[in-house]
Amino acid sequence: MNGNLRLALQKKGRLTDKSLELLRLCGMDIENYSERLVVTARNFPLDILFLRDDDIPEYVRDGVADVGIVGEDVIYEKQIPSIIIEKLGFGRCSLMLAYPENKELKKLEDIDGKTIATTYPKILKDFLKSRSLDAKIIELSGSVEIAPSLGVADLICDIVSTGNTLMMNKLKKSFKVFDSEAVLISANSSLKDEKKNEYLTDLRRRIRSVMTAGSSKYLMMNIPKDSLSKIIDIIPSLKSPTVLHLAEENMLAVHAVIPSESFWQIIDDLKSAGASGILLLPIENLIQ
Ligand code: ATP
Ligand code: MG
Repeated sequence: MNGNLRLALQKKGRLTDKSLELLRLCGMDIENYSERLVVTARNFPLDILFLRDDDIPEYVRDGVADVGIVGEDVIYEKQIPSIIIEKLGFGRCSLMLAYPENKELKKLEDIDGKTIATTYPKILKDFLKSRSLDAKIIELSGSVEIAPSLGVADLICDIVSTGNTLMMNKLKKSFKVFDSEAVLISANSSLKDEKKNEYLTDLRRRIRSVMTAGSSKYLMMNIPKDSLSKIIDIIPSLKSPTVLHLAEENMLAVHAVIPSESFWQIIDDLKSAGASGILLLPIENLIQ
């Protein structure tokens, strides 16, 4: 025990690269971990434990790790949602019901009395209960998509992204059961060890700043002086825009932080208002 904050990450899987990228954007200098179980950040009191994702919730709940990053689907399947302290905005996926292409399922109520194969029996059970549906759940540990063709189940409930696996198994997706993204988890939102708690507060502040920055862009442009008020009305800025004088009289430079998705909606209006030399830059961190 070295007093460092211990963070559990998925060793090898869909969340590994994105989790490490998030930590790097938070300013953590982490060496390429290759096959090691524990890696210590060079510039922050942080030990990263690399584990199977299924084990992370228990390790965090039992205090082996102080915090962890894992899919919300895993947390809800383990039925311990209270340990989620931050949503992380990556690893988004959906748990969907799917059934053979040659069958017809018009409405959700049609699954009453059917058999559904899944690796998520608890999430599925909660879903069925909340909709007052009565279907039989077959719990499998993997490859659920072959269950209908083997005659084991009428439907499956599984994570669907591109739909390629479904297509190869002649299945089509139907109703959505659960939306998931990566989350930061901790047994308690404030840790008993005072120092560690400070490190966690710092880490959470950095994560929030990276996430706000990721959804924002820095917009720069030159405008004719007399269109300033028009331009300010168009910009959906997080704060009041910065206005700078240019060497060329009658012209101004305007800078603003805007939500990323709004750029393409306002670009034509900016141009018609006389904006030129429009630049849109990524932001690495944004402290609010
Ligand atoms: P492990 O070997 O650690 O047990 P795993 O095979 O159980 O890994 P992965 O397939 O790597 O898990 O998925 C990890 C998490 O990534 C899932 O819990 C889910 O939250 C998310 N995820 C799964 N499939 C997708 C997908 N197709 N697109 C986006 N995110 C996904
Ligand atoms: Mg797993």
